[in-house]
Amino acid sequence: MAKERFFLELTPPDQTLRQLPHVVIVGGGFAGLKAAHALIGKPVRVTLIDKRNFNLFQPLLYQVASGLVSEADVASPLRQLVGQAPNIQILLGEVVDIDPAARELVFNERRLAFDHLILATGSGSTYFGHEEWREHAPPMKILEHADEVRRRLLTALEEAEQTPDPERRRFLQAAVVVGGGPSGCELAGSVNEMLRHAVARDFKQLDAADCRVTLVDPGDRLLRAMHPSLSEAAGRYLVSRGVELLLGGRVKTIAAGQVTVTTAEGDKTLEAATLCWTAGVRPSHLGRLLAERSGCAVDRGGRVIVNPDFSIPGHPAIRVVGDLCSYSHTADGKPLPGMAGPAVQMGGWVAADILAGLAGRSHAPFRWSDFGSMAVIGPLCAVADLRGLRVSGPLGWLLWGLAHLAFMPATENRLTLLTKWLWVIGTRQRASLLITGRPDQHMGVEVGLERLEGDSPPVA
Ligand SMILES: Cc1cc2nc3c(=O)[nH]c(=O)nc-3n(C[C@H](O)[C@H](O)[C@H](O)COP(=O)(O)OP(=O)(O)OC[C@H]3O[C@@H](n4cnc5c(N)ncnc54)[C@H](O)[C@@H]3O)c2cc1C
Repeated sequence: MAKERFFLELTPPDQTLRQLPHVVIVGGGFAGLKAAHALIGKPVRVTLIDKRNFNLFQPLLYQVASGLVSEADVASPLRQLVGQAPNIQILLGEVVDIDPAARELVFNERRLAFDHLILATGSGSTYFGHEEWREHAPPMKILEHADEVRRRLLTALEEAEQTPDPERRRFLQAAVVVGGGPSGCELAGSVNEMLRHAVARDFKQLDAADCRVTLVDPGDRLLRAMHPSLSEAAGRYLVSRGVELLLGGRVKTIAAGQVTVTTAEGDKTLEAATLCWTAGVRPSHLGRLLAERSGCAVDRGGRVIVNPDFSIPGHPAIRVVGDLCSYSHTADGKPLPGMAGPAVQMGGWVAADILAGLAGRSHAPFRWSDFGSMAVIGPLCAVADLRGLRVSGPLGWLLWGLAHLAFMPATENRLTLLTKWLWVIGTRQRASLLITGRPDQHMGVEVGLERLEGDSPPVA
């Protein structure tokens, strides 16, 4: 056993580490990982708990969904990113309860005490009360969602290749993306390129002109958080590549292969084999749980309303950061957006604040540096709004690429992504167009793991 690394109450802890204050970080996403990085080698012992064993770079999920890159290009094991630091312990598990008064949390049916807690469990997706839509139109939040969308797109093309009925073929070659924010625009642009190119090159029975991607949004323009000129540039580009925009359309119902949208002209039903949902984000349920347990307030969506130092009233040792917090101590009083940039800055600041407090030093208040926002909408084409500097086209793409590579936590992923992007630009070939995870293909395969209870082990 590597002695210095085992300091949990689970096993006899190393004496030197045992005496250090215990910082527990829940969530190894953008905010939690940054906090963990900032605490490496500092006089604290850190436990980082996540229900997944990897950090996921969500902004590139759409590239997994459209077969541009593969899963491991956008996710890195937490043990490799920070787990090798002597004062950091990674534990796989889902935190299900918090006891603020006792300074304990519950995961994997055990209680774990903390001196400082950094809660960074991010957000999930919501269908605004229509959970029944989820199975028909998967969201884009975790790797499995991206895999499922890619599986549906490619399976539909494979069926279309063998279908003599032209109407059915058009249905199979169609996709609808709901939500005209950055994720929706990126997904629609990339799926459109993928469908048209794959069909033109690899599917002998299909006509690329029959591919149809429709992007639906209730607003009057795409990318509403950006300047109108960039919304227009993005819309123009997508339309020029064949994406159909349905703006001012509010989704009324979603069923298998069908989205009904209410527009000013009445209801409109779109039929497509693949439907994707990027329209709703809801904070992790631990926000409301913390509110129940501590009496702290949450906003309408369920984000925890935090103090200027990200603590909650009456509990200075509990900090909430990233998508899960509502932080309005800004110059204009508006809460910070649920984006990677603020999450990273919050995580780093909170870690530094804890260290300053432990050392009895003062620490400058949190100030968010807004570097702007970007969305990539096609090969070599992105729109970027960088504090008033607005660019679109190849320059936007270059800035987008550099920013994403800079944010990507693992060097290996930076290299593979750069190689794959350049490869796609040069050849237009996507290497990750794999249909994986089909239940009928793996459930029946005997791999020796699915032994039923009571089965006797095989005789050697
Ligand atoms: C498709 C998509 C595209 C995006 N594009 C952009 C973009 O272009 N630019 C941008 O700035 N932002 C983008 N975002 C938003 C950005 O990804 C989030 O704002 C950011 O991930 C928030 O960071 P976080 O650390 O708060 O949470 P996350 O990064 O979501 O991390 C939360 C972590 O907590 C873990 N967790 C959750 N619950 C528990 C639990 N109970 N117990 C243990 N662990 C738990 C999760 O497994 C996860 O690892 C995008 C988001 C999505 C979904």
